[in-house]
Amino acid sequence: MKILISADMEGATGVTWPADVLPGTAQWERCRSMFTSDVNAAVLGFFDGGADEVLINEAHWSMRNLLLERLDERAEMLTGKHKSLSMVEGVQHGDVDGIAFVGYHTGAGTEGVLAHTYLANSLTGVWLNGERAGEGLLNAHVVAEYGVPVVLVTGDDLTCEDALGYAPEAPKVAVKDHVSRYAAVCRTPSRTSAAIRAAAKEGAALAVRHEPVRGGPFTMELEFDAAHLAAAATVVPGVRTGEERRVAYTSETMYDAIRTFKAVTTIVSAALEEQYG
Ligand SMILES: [Zn+2]
Repeated sequence: MKILISADMEGATGVTWPADVLPGTAQWERCRSMFTSDVNAAVLGFFDGGADEVLINEAHWSMRNLLLERLDERAEMLTGKHKSLSMVEGVQHGDVDGIAFVGYHTGAGTEGVLAHTYLANSLTGVWLNGERAGEGLLNAHVVAEYGVPVVLVTGDDLTCEDALGYAPEAPKVAVKDHVSRYAAVCRTPSRTSAAIRAAAKEGAALAVRHEPVRGGPFTMELEFDAAHLAAAATVVPGVRTGEERRVAYTSETMYDAIRTFKAVTTIVSAALEEQYG
């Protein structure tokens, strides 16, 4: 049994503030240690549950946050960026039986600690076939195309609630309770590690590959906080102008949808001006 862990940082133990997840800051240095502790707890739990292999895919920012030297020696880690499936890279080779979303968070325009969808602020909402979508829902659709079930979700309490929609059976661990976008009641790493390890062990039982799901076509609608960003997004082939500050596009597969999404967010990031957004 092979488990892939998609490891994001905003939903990690103790993390509530932008500097906590911004590489290079003193707070990030401290929080990456708690992030590593969450991920390692999942690794231990999956091995407890019978996994033979665990691959961790770094999924936050520059994708260079975890402390490799603190991980259980049986795990392997994919670190660094520019990967064709980004947050769920590694799921496409036909050998993964289950995926864990560790350190996840809620989507742009919703409540939740450090809520966003890929871009920090400029993207104010994403809808997939009319349903509001965060990174969890989007990536759940991507991995479903490879027949891989989501077997564990960790993050704040609202992330766990959100995951009921896309991974109802997966065990969920709330490492903190949301108070505002930048505040949460946090549990200590020793407590969250124990909870994550137990949940991962339980989740391992769900790691059974199924038939790939072909759920398309997928229409993605994106709303930006400024009109010029929506205009910039239409540079990407197939992306059409929608209602004010919105664009939309339709893809036959989620693989194509997420890759177009990546192209849009890259173009939009380049169109951002430092002071005016
Ligand atoms: Zn994220």
